[in-house]
Amino acid sequence: MFELKDKVAIITGARQGMGKSHALVLAKAGAKVVVSDISKEDCKVVVGEIKKEGGQALAVKCDVSKKEEVDEMVKKTIEKFGKIDILVNNAGICQFKPFLELTEEDWDRTLDINLKGYFLCTQAVAKEMAKQKAGVIINIASVAMGQQGIGFPNIVHYCASKGGIAAMTEASAVELAPYNIRVNTIAPGMIETPMIDPVRKDPKTMEAMLARLPMRRVGKPEEVSNLVLFLVSGESSYMTGSTVVIDGGWLAG
Ligand code: NAP
Repeated sequence: MFELKDKVAIITGARQGMGKSHALVLAKAGAKVVVSDISKEDCKVVVGEIKKEGGQALAVKCDVSKKEEVDEMVKKTIEKFGKIDILVNNAGICQFKPFLELTEEDWDRTLDINLKGYFLCTQAVAKEMAKQKAGVIINIASVAMGQQGIGFPNIVHYCASKGGIAAMTEASAVELAPYNIRVNTIAPGMIETPMIDPVRKDPKTMEAMLARLPMRRVGKPEEVSNLVLFLVSGESSYMTGSTVVIDGGWLAG
C-alpha cells in the first residue's frame, strides 16, 4: 500500500516544517521529490537527507507568488525527472496582526503567497499532468478556512487565503477530473512547526489552545504527512474535491 515508486512529486515550502516532513515521507514511499522553497540552501539539506536514505531528490528555489519562478520550477522538474505526478501546495505564511491594523501590503503579501501561489503552481503543474492524463494535487489549507464554527482573531487575511484554497480545490477538482487529475484539501489544526512559534512563546495562549483540543496536544508534521501519503496514493483513487480535517478533535470538541 501507499507505493509511490517511479512517481515524481513537487512539494512547495519544503525547507522546514510540514513541507520538509511531506518530502521525507513521500521519498520514503519511493517518490522522486522536488524540494522547493524560497531558500535553496535549506532545500539542499533536505535533499541530502533523502539521498542518504537512498532516495532521489532535487532542490529548486521557487517563490510561489512569482509566475516566472513557478514556471522555472516546473521546467527544472521535467528536465530532471521527465514528468510530474504529484503536487503538494504547502508554502504559506501566517502573520499575526489585529484586523484594524492590517495594511494593504499585509493583505496582498498573504494572499499572493497563500492563494495566488497555489493557483500559479496548480495551473502550471496541471498543464503537464493533463498531457499524461494523470496527476494528484494536495492543497494545504487550515481549520482557519472558515465555515467550521470557530473564528480566529488576528489572522483575518490568513483565514481569507485558506478559505479561498478550500473553494479553489472544489472548483479545480471539477475542471480537472476529465484529465484524471484529483485535487483535495487537507485542513490541519495546530501542528508543531516554526509557524506556531509565536503561539508557543506565549504560555497563556498555548495553554488556552491546548484546553480546546480534545487530544490535549499539538500534532506532529509526520501525522499530516501520513494523510498526504494516503491522498496522493492509489488507495484514495475515488477522492477528489474533498477537504479532510486533521486536528486532534479541535473542531469536534
Ligand atoms: P513553516 O514551517 O513556516 O513552513 C512554511 C514554508 O513555506 C517555510 O519554509 C516558508 O519560508 C515557506 N514560504 C513562505 N513564503 C514562501 C513563498 N513565497 N514561496 C515558497 N515558499 C514560501 O510552516 P508550516 O506550519 O510547516 O506550514 C505549512 C503549511 O501548513 C502552510 O500552508 C500553513 O499555512 C499550513 N498550516 C500550518 C498549521 C500549523 O499549525 N503549523 C496549521 C494549519 C495549516 P520562510 O520561513 O522563509 O517564510
